[in-house]
Amino acid sequence: MTRSLPPIERAELRLVRLPLINPFTISTGTMAERVFPLVTLSAGGLEGYAEGVMDPLPDFLEETIAGAMDLIGETILPAMMGRSFENPAAIEKLLSPWRGNRMALATVEMAFWDLWAKWLGLPLKTLIGGSGEAVDVGVSLGIGPIDGTLARVESHVAQGYKRIKLKIMPGHDIELLEAVRRAFPDIRLSVDANSAYRLSDWAVLGRLDDFHLEYVEQPLAHDDIADHAVLQSRLRTPLCLDESIRSAGHARRALQADATRVINIKVGRVGGIAEAIRVHDIAAAFDVPVWCGGMLESGIGRAHNIHLSTLPNFRKPGDTSSASRYFHRDIIVEKLETMDGRMPVPVGPGIGVHLDRDALDAVTQSVQSLSA
Ligand code: MG
Repeated sequence: MTRSLPPIERAELRLVRLPLINPFTISTGTMAERVFPLVTLSAGGLEGYAEGVMDPLPDFLEETIAGAMDLIGETILPAMMGRSFENPAAIEKLLSPWRGNRMALATVEMAFWDLWAKWLGLPLKTLIGGSGEAVDVGVSLGIGPIDGTLARVESHVAQGYKRIKLKIMPGHDIELLEAVRRAFPDIRLSVDANSAYRLSDWAVLGRLDDFHLEYVEQPLAHDDIADHAVLQSRLRTPLCLDESIRSAGHARRALQADATRVINIKVGRVGGIAEAIRVHDIAAAFDVPVWCGGMLESGIGRAHNIHLSTLPNFRKPGDTSSASRYFHRDIIVEKLETMDGRMPVPVGPGIGVHLDRDALDAVTQSVQSLSA
């Protein structure tokens, strides 16, 4: 007999500002610190955690941290106080009236999954149907001088990472790939343009077939599927959509159009774990592999990503590399570190990691507490 989760008795919304060891540059800009909302849901003496992956400004997708803080703190969390939710589907129903803002909705949904899994005494991976003790991971290297990139490729290959992904943009593409392939002819290599090109850039895009890339990620507009289908019909290299896939419906349309032959799943981008599983499943139905992308998450978001990556169609290495690559001090007690390109799945109920309260307090900008 399953015991029902007691009513949500408390919630906390923090704004966290975590400095990055090295600034991270992609085609749309440079990030020097990771700023994010951290949600805690409390019920039955347990706590569930999740972090938001929206940026301060709408330069990846349309959401902003200010908008998410307002929606979560003023509307969503107050609507949950003192109420019982039988399972994550009940949370999805609560969130269903609100359009877009998937990263904000996902933050609450993911915290509930963690809380619910802890109540049931099960690891998150078990609840969602995943398995295994570790997942394959690669790294994503930001834009910088070619010499420095070659050195970083070498060090990460030596650490055993199973795939190197290079961020590219117009003017920082073919010369970079020629240099990396000359030095590393056999590594698993991919590129991510974060929507920096258009179909009219065929003179460059057509040459990407020359570098034995595992896939070319999101070369065209952030909300496009049709032009990616045209590009895929001209390229031998598989395309991988990231920004364009905001839901399982988008995934289905992109797969039907042959606009993507690999999908990068980010839980926040698609609105939560339940929708991420639906994207995973529709991709599997098309025999298209998926992998788990990263948004420079702290240990809380990383732990969620690792559990999700234990589902069977995560057949390519994900982006959840060692937290120590990004942060001097993480906000969790456990060290999420890879060994030979494998990231161990945190053990224990829920996401399996614990907040380091001192570390968290030191990087907290604001705290909003709610109670039933
Ligand atoms: Mg991407």
